[in-house]
Amino acid sequence: MTRGPRIAILSFHLESNAFSPPSRLEDFRQLCWLEGEAVSEHARRLNHMPSEITGFYARMDAAGPWQPLPLVIAAAPPGGPVDEPTWQLFLDTATARLRAALPVDAVYLGNHGAASGLGQGDTEAELMDAVRAIVGPEVPLIASYDLHCNISDRVIHALDGLFPYRTNPHVDLRQRAADAADAILACLGGERLQLRHVRLPFTPPSVTLLTARGPFADAIGWADTLLREDTSGELVDVSVTGGFVFSDVPQCGMCVSVTTRGDPLHAERTAQALARRIWEDRHRYLVVTSTVDEAVAQARTSTVPLLFADVADNPGGGGGGNTVGLMKAFHEARIPGVVLGVFIDADAVQQAVAAGVGGTAELVFNRMPSLFADTYAATARVLMLSDGEGTGRRGILKDRRFSLGASALVELLPSGMRVLVSSLRRQLSEPAMLEMHGIDIAAARVLIVKSRGHYRAGFDEFFSDDRIVDVDSDGLTTPNLARVPFRHLPRPVFPLDADTAWPASAG
Ligand SMILES: [Zn+2]
Repeated sequence: MTRGPRIAILSFHLESNAFSPPSRLEDFRQLCWLEGEAVSEHARRLNHMPSEITGFYARMDAAGPWQPLPLVIAAAPPGGPVDEPTWQLFLDTATARLRAALPVDAVYLGNHGAASGLGQGDTEAELMDAVRAIVGPEVPLIASYDLHCNISDRVIHALDGLFPYRTNPHVDLRQRAADAADAILACLGGERLQLRHVRLPFTPPSVTLLTARGPFADAIGWADTLLREDTSGELVDVSVTGGFVFSDVPQCGMCVSVTTRGDPLHAERTAQALARRIWEDRHRYLVVTSTVDEAVAQARTSTVPLLFADVADNPGGGGGGNTVGLMKAFHEARIPGVVLGVFIDADAVQQAVAAGVGGTAELVFNRMPSLFADTYAATARVLMLSDGEGTGRRGILKDRRFSLGASALVELLPSGMRVLVSSLRRQLSEPAMLEMHGIDIAAARVLIVKSRGHYRAGFDEFFSDDRIVDVDSDGLTTPNLARVPFRHLPRPVFPLDADTAWPASAG
């Protein structure tokens, strides 16, 4: 008989952009929906699951005997809020399986942390509360979260410890899950963790949240210093999360969360002090982006290859991957040596399939226009067709399988711009996505990526930071927050409201 602690494991992985079409069951089934023992099998080999789950199993396996009690792992690509039937199915599955698994010694939640629902604005809190109601107040509840999470007071109240990613691009998923595993082991050893947080009225655009350098790197560095120089022995974790403003929910905002070994006051004071320091630094988070016209001019005169990031249309943040601003401008300016990817348009792929490899067709991109995404037609030659199945070799998808769906590499005429068009909404974060279509990235003069920041971990071997230009075109992830029709974001909030005060003055 297996011995060791009985640990329930579950995950709901969705980053909700309130302005994207709702996320449905098929979006989860396509990426990951696993229940029960199938989770354990997948977690111990190359898989499509959130890497936290793999990392959690690896740490627990290494620590000694334990009994994994996997409930349900559901992950969809960033998209709109989850529709109500899908959310209820997940919640019912998770709670039924948790009841059946009782008694449990601890629960690990490997969520993204920025999910919301069409029928329930704070699905994260609803899940945590449901789990807490079943296991009772004594069983440790520990979560890992994405750095772009929105943390409500209810979530903090339900949890014993929280371990958000500390890197952006996110390359520490497994490490943070391992940290969560260590916290669970500490709890099982008798510690009673305390978690406190401070949320600021501050929603920095995602492009300002990189952790290699810049203000957010400094904020993470201050958290690291607090941990390293802690003489009390109290601090288990100090984290800073950027929030995901496009969720458009009351709990949006940059957050400091602190987990201690038992002293809630120490957690509270530490969180307050760090939040104050970040708040005083907020003016460094103002965005510098190029306009489309500036980008074309830079490409025309540059003597070195440049990467232009179409940050406003990032499928990794719920963008459609289908705005034509940069494609149109570079094509019509006849900038030579341009590669653009990934343009998401299943219908355009089918037009290319109909034309066949070597064939020429009048391709219509975005036949059905939507918010920010116009229709655009161009003559194109089909260079290659594929099923879009590949394996990452670098960055956030390293050694992981990905699927772009049916794909076509086409060449727009007469500019010669090569465009990778795909069917499934994925961001271009991985060089293999282009290389498997025969593109020599090192030979491209201009690379246009529909991604906000995760491409940096994949394309750093081709483009150093000084050859990367963030462009603000159109899209559902625009860094120009004033263009977004927010409805539920708490106001005032910085930088949308320049004179936001914190703490809010009394009276
Ligand atoms: Zn993220």
